[in-house]
Amino acid sequence: MSTPPPLHHLFHPAHAAAYADAMHAGVDRLTEALVGATRPATGRSPEAAERLVRRIDLDRPLGDANEALAEMGRIWLDDAVWFHDPGYAAHLNCPVVLPAVLAELFVSGVNPSLDTFDQSVGGTFVERHLVDWTAGRVGLGPDADGVFTSGGTQSNLQALLLAREVAREHHPGLDAGRMRIVASQEAHFSVQTSARLLGLDDDAVVGVATDHHRRMDPDALATALARIVAAGDVPVAVVATAGTTDFGAIDPLPAVAGLCRSFGTWLHVDAAYGGGLLASQRLRPRLAGIERADSVTVDFHKTWFQPVSCSALVVRDRRRLRHVTWRADYLNPRVSHGTQPPHQVDKSLQTTRRFDALKLWMTLRVMGADVVGSYVEHVVDLAREVGDLLADHPDLELAARPQLSTVVFRHRRGAPADEVRARLYDGGTALVAATTVDGERWLKLTLLNPAAELGDVRRLLDRVAAEGDDLLDEDEAVAS
Ligand SMILES: *Cc1c(COP(=O)(O)O)cnc(C)c1O
Repeated sequence: MSTPPPLHHLFHPAHAAAYADAMHAGVDRLTEALVGATRPATGRSPEAAERLVRRIDLDRPLGDANEALAEMGRIWLDDAVWFHDPGYAAHLNCPVVLPAVLAELFVSGVNPSLDTFDQSVGGTFVERHLVDWTAGRVGLGPDADGVFTSGGTQSNLQALLLAREVAREHHPGLDAGRMRIVASQEAHFSVQTSARLLGLDDDAVVGVATDHHRRMDPDALATALARIVAAGDVPVAVVATAGTTDFGAIDPLPAVAGLCRSFGTWLHVDAAYGGGLLASQRLRPRLAGIERADSVTVDFHKTWFQPVSCSALVVRDRRRLRHVTWRADYLNPRVSHGTQPPHQVDKSLQTTRRFDALKLWMTLRVMGADVVGSYVEHVVDLAREVGDLLADHPDLELAARPQLSTVVFRHRRGAPADEVRARLYDGGTALVAATTVDGERWLKLTLLNPAAELGDVRRLLDRVAAEGDDLLDEDEAVAS
């Protein structure tokens, strides 16, 4: 007889105390790491980070959670990037709210899958209630529906898939080579990758010019749509962005919606970033027109302070979701009598799917949307104040007035953005992003920390200015 497998790595009622001990040890380790983090990063280089990880022999398990936690600390946690540190202001990655982290414990500990009712029970309705609530905030009307996804990339893909299928219905026999997707030049690159995945031509995405605030220009959109139709092609969807990744620009949704109506085109609003405004009474009016969309992407893991992943796609007309429905005999077969069971897989591109909705649920039940909204207001206000500060800063130059919570700027005397950024990372005290604007490299802050104050950002900017100066001085010293 073979030896039985060691079962203490699974939950068993007989080992409940050990289970709780292990979990508590994890919480202690996490809290210790959070408390011990005094700067946003340690500046570990890719080479050093790789060396630490690669030398671990995965065929020699440690057999002990505490040892594995200690090792995990050495190879990763000790050098982790801390999004709650006010020195972090790089990407759209947010500090996370406690109710959501608490929910994560249950998402993993219970491990339901949201594909079928019989694997999730109440979870199906937690998700549905949140989808309806989100669609209600957007204002999509009584026939709305949607589903949680892994992120904005997937939400956008699913939206464009639905749009493609609707276009096929309206234009029987429509060839993929004739399909066009229209988006501003500032739209997220997932629009391009979606088009490619959907079998559209490489030049299927038509870029529309933006105005001086980098918002889609409605006149340019009208011209683009008219040209597409005149060429005998079909504008399958217009993607309006509510909060561009670089400048936080919100496309003029009412005008865009009007044009979509005239051309019979699906309107998808990518509010991956700007979706947080839905939580704020004060800022919600900036999204006016979003209620006229056919589909909307909202990333809760950006401006709703949720752990990755947590995103949703909501649609105006629930019947459109059938375009992703596939019946598998072993999972969600068509029932011959009675009503179809409430299977979320019928609306999703994913099959097995995390119960990410529980995080948002706990957030709303503990804090409520108004508190989330106050966080969003804080970072938007902060960005405006930082913009004011940079508008007449002696050493730094502002690219444009902040519209959401990003700030694009550079070193006035011309220290290269990427080098400044790399030096800041190496020092570990300040993390900023960089981007290209009209062919030139600029630095970018993405402010998503509700606990960050103007003084924190001022200190961060001082470091940027100082690194830029040092860089130029060193270059001069080398040159002379
Ligand atoms: C972040 C972002 C995306 C992509 O979302 P992920 O969650 O990263 O997949 C799409 N659109 C916009 C405007 C974004 O800011």
